Amino acid sequence: MTENLLLLPGDGIGAEIMVEVENLIAHLNGTGQTDFTIEKGQVGGAAFDAHGAAISETDMDKAMAADAVIFGAVGGPKWDRVPYEVRPEAGLLRLRKDLQLFANLRPAICYPALAEASALKRELVEGLDILIVRELTGGVYFGEPKTITDLGVTQHGTGQKRAIDTQVYETYEIDRICRVAFDLAGTRGSRLHSADKKNVMKSGVLWDEVARQVAADYPKIEFSHILADNCAMQLVRHPKQFDVIVTDNLFGDVLSDVAAMLTGSLGMLPSASLGAPDEKTGKRKALYEPVHGSAPDIAGKGIANPIAMIASFAMALRYSFDNAALADRIEAAIAGVLGDGLRCADIMQDGSTRVGTVQMGAAIIAKLDG
Ligand code: NAD
Repeated sequence: MTENLLLLPGDGIGAEIMVEVENLIAHLNGTGQTDFTIEKGQVGGAAFDAHGAAISETDMDKAMAADAVIFGAVGGPKWDRVPYEVRPEAGLLRLRKDLQLFANLRPAICYPALAEASALKRELVEGLDILIVRELTGGVYFGEPKTITDLGVTQHGTGQKRAIDTQVYETYEIDRICRVAFDLAGTRGSRLHSADKKNVMKSGVLWDEVARQVAADYPKIEFSHILADNCAMQLVRHPKQFDVIVTDNLFGDVLSDVAAMLTGSLGMLPSASLGAPDEKTGKRKALYEPVHGSAPDIAGKGIANPIAMIASFAMALRYSFDNAALADRIEAAIAGVLGDGLRCADIMQDGSTRVGTVQMGAAIIAKLDG
């Protein structure tokens, strides 16, 4: 059955690295390994230049209809002064909101060939494979009230202000993200840590209560509670103790960046954002994107590392198209070319061979069926 992908390259290096995904899909389709139908659209600054919006309604319709959206990166100095509602990031936020992408998956995988690039010792990170599942649409980033109020003169002096953010979660939000995380743990190492601050936050108390209720439905998964601050500490002390970590929006933002940096460069890190299963088809809306931005400092030079982008496509195969075997082969091909000593500039090491975006993409395809 034909499967529909919407490619949104975006700005800066987004367009360059997306070409490597297109080449990979052309190879896979051409050799009968997949049957993808590709549509392309514009997002971010590119969409603003073309339509005066960070994403057009036509492309939003395509995104809603697609089996998965593959997203490059948005932003750049050219659009720093465009109105706030049509700034490049608004395109990504609209996609997340309209597709209701509440589950953000950030794997941290340490390729053996890059173990030296980690800030931690090789033995702590070699073979690392953890997945952080972050709640993406609730919590303190969205809770109301969210205000800064002028207080004027108080006992603490003049010009005083009060800032308020509100951390708020309802049962259903915690339940659905925990179910995604438990399901994923079942496809991996069958261990799940739920991280919160139930020792000082009411939202943490509810988070833990709901996580434990969901755990009862997954008797085969080893469930552990961990305080989010301890989780940060354990991630840099002994990261391999973790398999899947589920946590809220704020803690997930921080913990996923900590986990990411265990593995080396930004140019290596993929991510997925999943929504609720469709009532009729059971398929989740999904968007796959590299963690990094549009890297205007290197855009147009042909040196951007396409691995995060290609690994994001591999995640799409795994989570949207039930093709873990092909995802595994793509990840093995990435590990293979790194093992052969090929490096883009961002991960260059002494004694390695420096290659550009196009050569890296081609080497991964060659390795795949080599
Ligand atoms: P960035 O991730 O674009 O770049 C940070 C540094 O990492 C730069 O030195 C860059 O050259 C390098 N880098 C990033 N990806 C790389 C790759 N694949 N290969 C080699 N080197 C790579 O972050 P930034 O510089 O803070 O932001 C640049 C623009 O991207 C801004 O407009 C920002 O708003 C936007 N941004 C977009 C997203 C997104 O689209 N999801 C995410 C982050 C930042």
